Amino acid sequence: MSAALFCLFLSAVGGCAFFVFVGKLGKNHPLRKDLKALNIDLRDYGFGERFAREAALYEDLFAARVSEQHHDLYRVVASSGEIDARVSGRFAHTADDETCFPAVGDWVMIDRLDDRTGSAIIHHVLPRKSMLVRQSAGLRSSGQVISANIDTIFICMSLNEDFNVRRIERYLAIAWDSGATPVIVLTKADLCADLPYRLSELNEVSIGVDVITCSAAAGTGFDEIESHIEPGKTIAFVGSSGVGKSTIINRLMGRDVLDTQAVREDDGKGRHTTTHRQLLLLPQGGIVIDTPGMRELQIHSANLTKAFEDVEAIAAQCRFSDCSHRTEPGCAIRAAIADGTLSEERFASYNKLQREAVYAGLSSRQRENEKLTRMFGGKSAIKQFRKEIKTKKR
Ligand code: GDP
Ligand code: ZN
Repeated sequence: MSAALFCLFLSAVGGCAFFVFVGKLGKNHPLRKDLKALNIDLRDYGFGERFAREAALYEDLFAARVSEQHHDLYRVVASSGEIDARVSGRFAHTADDETCFPAVGDWVMIDRLDDRTGSAIIHHVLPRKSMLVRQSAGLRSSGQVISANIDTIFICMSLNEDFNVRRIERYLAIAWDSGATPVIVLTKADLCADLPYRLSELNEVSIGVDVITCSAAAGTGFDEIESHIEPGKTIAFVGSSGVGKSTIINRLMGRDVLDTQAVREDDGKGRHTTTHRQLLLLPQGGIVIDTPGMRELQIHSANLTKAFEDVEAIAAQCRFSDCSHRTEPGCAIRAAIADGTLSEERFASYNKLQREAVYAGLSSRQRENEKLTRMFGGKSAIKQFRKEIKTKKR
């Protein structure tokens, strides 16, 4: 009995001593970091007042933020750390459409704080303050959420040959539509001979939007980028491949968490092969969301833009779903041009923007395939062509 009491006494003293010890650790002591990881302050991850209020409605559930998505398996950051989670059967059953499902950046309500006995169960997605949606396959598709609750979208464009005001226009339309605030980041200023001219070109489309000029090579513009980042706020970078997004994120992180293009080319693996964390906590506060979907935004931007809804609605009336609008019978586009409902210039511009958008986001291998598709007209034709080559070789 007295032995048991003594043990209790010892552990109480031990516990107190432990807390005193931890309290004395320096702010950046590694042990403190580990301890913090065990008890995460969700506010660092953007759990502001609004989400806290919403979450309080669910008494028996815990709030967590989706940090990664792999099909129907999620990683979520909860107060206990990062754990696996899945939506409940009831959730999947009652979801109206695809956009109801959790996406990276979402705040969700889960049933437990550890996944040792199986994934935690997601019962609700808290109302989003913003979301980026991309068109998914299928005409009647509701679209797919590629990230949620982003406060600021940095639209990156390089000041060299990538510079294209029309593309910025499209990105701006997507960003405003998402509910986030866009900021334009012009990269590689060191490669630009006539910055004032570029800026004047941009003036016309950037009304009400902050424009930052930066150069990773010269180390300029980063203070301005950081001035748009706050603890608890979520940011994302969009823009064509190669404009320097990874370089900026690495710089903000203070270490190389992402492969930059130079590295990617060196290892010959191409750009989307490396997996990395999709939700990054910046050392100075703030959260970066960087999912493959965000990176590929430009591929879908031509679909996303509301600017050409009219053209797409007409094209949907063509007899053949893969109509090229050139010689096919029953082509609604040619009919609309003939009767004046659609101007030839608008259709040309639509075609051009779409080609450009598709082109901008593809790797060189994909570009090669694109070229083949354009040359030979589709996958089956390519297969046929390859077969012919094979038989010829025999
Ligand atoms: P991402 O595909 O948008 O993530 O682009 P990366 O960050 O991988 O950058 C692509 C290439 O541009 C890399 O070789 C970088 O070193 C280079 N780069 C990035 N920023 C700058 C810059 O400010 N100036 C110059 N000259 N090159 C840069
Ligand atoms: Zn047609």
